[in-house]
Amino acid sequence: MKSLQELTRTNIWNLTPYSCARDEFKGRAASVFLDANENPYNNPLNRYPDPLQEKLKAKLAPIKGVPASRIFLGNGSDEAIDLIYRIFCEPRQDNVVAMAPTYGMYGVCADINDVEYRPVTLNDDFTLDAERLLAAADEHTKVIWLCSPNNPTGNALDRNAMERILTEFQGIVVIDEAYSDFSSQRPFRLDLDRFPNLIVLNTFSKLWASAAIRLGMAFASEEIIALFNKVKYPYNVNQLTQQQALTVLDDLQHIDLWKATLLKERFQLLPAVAELPICKAVYPTDANFFLARMSDANSIYNYLIDRGIVVRNRNRVQLCGNCLRITIGTPQENNALLGALRQYRPTP
Ligand SMILES: *Cc1c(COP(=O)(O)O)cnc(C)c1O
Repeated sequence: MKSLQELTRTNIWNLTPYSCARDEFKGRAASVFLDANENPYNNPLNRYPDPLQEKLKAKLAPIKGVPASRIFLGNGSDEAIDLIYRIFCEPRQDNVVAMAPTYGMYGVCADINDVEYRPVTLNDDFTLDAERLLAAADEHTKVIWLCSPNNPTGNALDRNAMERILTEFQGIVVIDEAYSDFSSQRPFRLDLDRFPNLIVLNTFSKLWASAAIRLGMAFASEEIIALFNKVKYPYNVNQLTQQQALTVLDDLQHIDLWKATLLKERFQLLPAVAELPICKAVYPTDANFFLARMSDANSIYNYLIDRGIVVRNRNRVQLCGNCLRITIGTPQENNALLGALRQYRPTP
């Protein structure tokens, strides 16, 4: 790996971050807070939230198996994705490499930050060709984006291929593991010690069923986390979100139940869709969704909409012609989908 200073934009490396009232006063007990121009009324929402979310990180650390000092929390994973560009990529000069198809935000954030985005098409069976990704990188490549299990294809990537990229690429490697809770593969966040250039993304939006509170996690070395903390908005995770996240983590047993139900439903729904005459292929999945290649994705998509069932039409995504991306729902929802698909008749 190149040195972190070489990889970081000079203005960010030299940045003196904003110092907020809650940063300056820490520790000793106090009961009169006249330092932040808050209104003393309307407790507790009158107070600025903890800028570093220490209580929440302390609770997350044992659950995720990552020390609190290696955790960044943001307004969804989307904040972490955007910050990675702002920290490492000089607009109009640096570039990033990503697999394709994959999650759309990596490309959108590249465009917003005016950074060249180099998509490298996956193999036809959606597996990763590490060689071709590495070959797409040059001396201006700061970041390689990997997503495993991948959205929209659903498959987990080969671990050896990912490790090869982590060892041979000299820049930052991001592995987005938004769906790793649904996979049997060992999550990369447990291997931060072996890969100083690794950033792993997780989210509250999927298995933890809290997309509405907008809370994403990044795991990385303390040095990389320090860069995130320098650049983020001072109070990037609001108090209501921090409170609700603590509540969610109080009931991990409930989350395990959701997971068991969703995996069981996935196990049943996949073969049932696969045996429909209008289905050409169902692709193996490690996530809470799957990709199905249909006889006519556009017409089936519209047919389902007419019946009040919304899936994601990925027909126009590369390698995904005639594919629908289907999220695993409740047993009732999955039955409604299956029933509708069984009744579908192509218009002659
Ligand atoms: C859903 C999803 C996320 C989650 O994003 P949030 O901003 O945390 O809701 C991240 N990455 C991928 C690949 C996803 O599919």
